[in-house]
Amino acid sequence: MIRELAADTEATAEIPKMASVEKFPFHVPHLEELAGVLQNELKNNFADVQVSVVDCPDLSKEPYTFPVKGICGKPRIAEVGGVPYLMPLVNQEKVYDMNTVAKQIDLPGAFIIGAGESPFQTLGINAEFKPIVQTQSDHKPAMNGSYFAQINPADGGYLLEKYSGKCNDFGFALLANLFASEGQPGKPPEFSSCPLNSDEDVNNWLHFFEIKAPLVCQPVFVSRDPGFDLQLEHTHCFSHHGEGGHYHYDTTPDTVEYLGYFLPAEVLYQIDKPKDTHTFGRD
Ligand SMILES: [Zn+2]
Repeated sequence: MIRELAADTEATAEIPKMASVEKFPFHVPHLEELAGVLQNELKNNFADVQVSVVDCPDLSKEPYTFPVKGICGKPRIAEVGGVPYLMPLVNQEKVYDMNTVAKQIDLPGAFIIGAGESPFQTLGINAEFKPIVQTQSDHKPAMNGSYFAQINPADGGYLLEKYSGKCNDFGFALLANLFASEGQPGKPPEFSSCPLNSDEDVNNWLHFFEIKAPLVCQPVFVSRDPGFDLQLEHTHCFSHHGEGGHYHYDTTPDTVEYLGYFLPAEVLYQIDKPKDTHTFGRD
């Protein structure tokens, strides 16, 4: 078994040799201090806000159904690729692998969630990706619980599917905003989260749908760009009723409720940063 895993490791290590990796340590406030700041600031956006430091719920249970119990233990953010690889034109050379990313962020065996683009190299289509990946380690085989959502050519609606129902690899493409940890239980601050609204630079090729609650969202955000040209916030969501996608804004501000479990990351890694950049398409 170990020999097999070692062989896989060799195979998946090919892609990122050329990819650059930059590292930036975050200031990590005490959770109690962070909870106080969030409680005060979120009151500006929500009628009711309760922020507290709590034990991470068991994320292996409904509605999350993740392959791990928590998002704690060496938390870090990986920003891979970027919007300039998606537009104005797709760069088809930009394909990545979650097991390799786990090594690039110095956490082989990491549990990784977030938002990104589906691996067109395997799916053959452009689709939004909701990564939920237990990467491989000496102790555990890799497991891919990711979802992808694509426009349904038949009716113009969309389809949410489990990636493992189509392919067996751990790839993705173009860009991803990832949160990685050891997948341990622990204490994150809990709060009603505020979505960042766009400046309405709606691209014509995007399709907007109103979708039903409850949704499980996987936001990855940073409070400040330390000069890396980061995507500040990126949220993809899935559900158990066949709906999911990229979160843009809520359509029922009077009644919407958010329950969030977040953990401040200790380190940011930027992998394969685009050299030619622009500012559009970041919503
Ligand atoms: Zn997205």
